[in-house]
Amino acid sequence: MPPLLLLVAACATTPPEAPLPEPDPRVVAIHEFTVFADMHAHPSRFHRANIESIAAKEIDVYRRSTIDLVVANISSDMAYDGEYVNRDGSVVEEGRYKPAPGEVYALSADRLARIQRTFDLGYAVHADTPAAVLEARERNQVAVLPALEGGDALEGNIDNLHQMHKNGLRLLQLIHFRNNEIGHMQTWPYSPGGLTEFGRDVVKTANRLGIIIDMAHANDETMLDVLALTEHPVIFSHGGVRHYTDHDRAVTDEQIRAIARNGGVIGVWPHGRHIEDVAEMVDYIEHVIQVGGIDHVGIGSDLRGISKYVKGFDESANFHAIAAELLDRGYSDEDVGKVMGGNFFRVWVAVTDS
Ligand SMILES: [Zn+2]
Repeated sequence: MPPLLLLVAACATTPPEAPLPEPDPRVVAIHEFTVFADMHAHPSRFHRANIESIAAKEIDVYRRSTIDLVVANISSDMAYDGEYVNRDGSVVEEGRYKPAPGEVYALSADRLARIQRTFDLGYAVHADTPAAVLEARERNQVAVLPALEGGDALEGNIDNLHQMHKNGLRLLQLIHFRNNEIGHMQTWPYSPGGLTEFGRDVVKTANRLGIIIDMAHANDETMLDVLALTEHPVIFSHGGVRHYTDHDRAVTDEQIRAIARNGGVIGVWPHGRHIEDVAEMVDYIEHVIQVGGIDHVGIGSDLRGISKYVKGFDESANFHAIAAELLDRGYSDEDVGKVMGGNFFRVWVAVTDS
């Protein structure tokens, strides 16, 4: 075949997005007794896109993968950096200005309202408590857990955490791509320092309110400060492992061990720019298992938050492929269930129980 025809043939046979294969019955059987969870996502890019709510179609993406619980993250970096769409449709260019007092909170509160609208429209239910998720499962409904990716929205005022908790917030990732009032970030430009005084107040208040603390994007000092202070297990929702990739957002073996000692969970991501395919992602998961133990690993897809996913997971978010790969490597149903969400759910129960 001449090269051009070959190309045409290839295009014709390769749809832009492969449909999800039939659910793996072995994985469906595990789901019968385990909550499946995505520890970190940006469904419908709801915090950046100018939309009313997370789309019903996006919730279906999760339902097809039998994911019961999705952590939906609001990042507010764009209030500082620009590059987003306003309510009136106007585009805010990159590199803007210092936000006015109250502006970052207001932007985040608006995104929290979009999650609430997703519930009002009946597309998903509020992951208000672990019990609410178990009830939603019975009705084949997906539960969405509202989260902040970076506590910048608190603007250094603890009242804002109380208010957001009242409005449904259940998880707080302390830091994102900026050093904020709480602590220091993991990525360049690096800065020394851990939790601030306000950060300590935030950790204690989150403990008291039963808000899950997420240390993703926090630097080593901040993580160690959180681990020393928190009365509850914490998570590191999404990232790689330093053993396989020398990347800022990857956790070291010492960090894995420290989070495991705390009873927490590390979410491995399917980031297609760092990891090739599902098999390699499962190598990462296995590394966390070997260093920290089976009780301390989960999955944080970062869905719609990154531009490329590992092969076999793809934009269609094939969570079952990860479980199937673990089963093929000889892990028991119980262990696979822990990775698929059982561990994360256990942490949430612990955080809300006391
Ligand atoms: Zn992130």
